Amino acid sequence: MTLIAQRLQTIRSALPAGVTLVAVSKTYGAEQVQEAYDAGQRDFGENRVQELETKAHILPADCRWHLIGHLQSNKVRFIAPYVHLIHSVDSLALLKEISKQAVKCGRTIDCLLQMHIALEETKYGMNEDELFGLLHVCAGAPLPNVRIRGLMGMATFTDDQVRIRQEFVALKNCFTRAKNKYFAHDSDFDQLSMGMSSDWQIAVEVGSTLVRIGSSIFGTR
Ligand SMILES: *Cc1c(COP(=O)(O)O)cnc(C)c1O
Repeated sequence: MTLIAQRLQTIRSALPAGVTLVAVSKTYGAEQVQEAYDAGQRDFGENRVQELETKAHILPADCRWHLIGHLQSNKVRFIAPYVHLIHSVDSLALLKEISKQAVKCGRTIDCLLQMHIALEETKYGMNEDELFGLLHVCAGAPLPNVRIRGLMGMATFTDDQVRIRQEFVALKNCFTRAKNKYFAHDSDFDQLSMGMSSDWQIAVEVGSTLVRIGSSIFGTR
């Protein structure tokens, strides 16, 4: 068994049923991604459109590609025909563009709304007011061919486990409020993307349904 296969197995065996492992392949080569594929991995995450495109063309067609990084509106059309889930929607304008491109492709695109939960200023994402503002508009005039599946967030990059847990709990609570207010009768709003190599165990304890793990699978970047 290869090292990548071993690491995948270790992580998978620790994940509760219902939690999806997204292997974050950004910066790693296609051979390493293929190695993970050969070990049964199908969900892969990239944070740049160009790199996602390159790998999607090389890797087998049944890979499920997740866009986890900031997405510019003018790049949506490149991935619209095949992207599995966009984790990083943080504006109504972007969601509208995804809807437009999804209509053109004749498919429905699953999206997560990215929340800013960390202390760092540089990270993308919305606060709760912005989230509810967006959801209010969408509830009044639903956008065609996009399905809002849940929320995504990144905790502060810190060793402080208490702080990380608090941030994940805040995101989970925000998810629950959004669910109760706008998706009480919509079973599609069921995904909470949180947890990376350094903090996925905490995220899973708090209720993550999608963990995005790179370096613990592929090695240090
Ligand atoms: C890079 C990245 C990850 C994975 O990070 P690791 O520390 O390598 O597990 C997860 N989520 C996002 C948004 C990323 O950009």
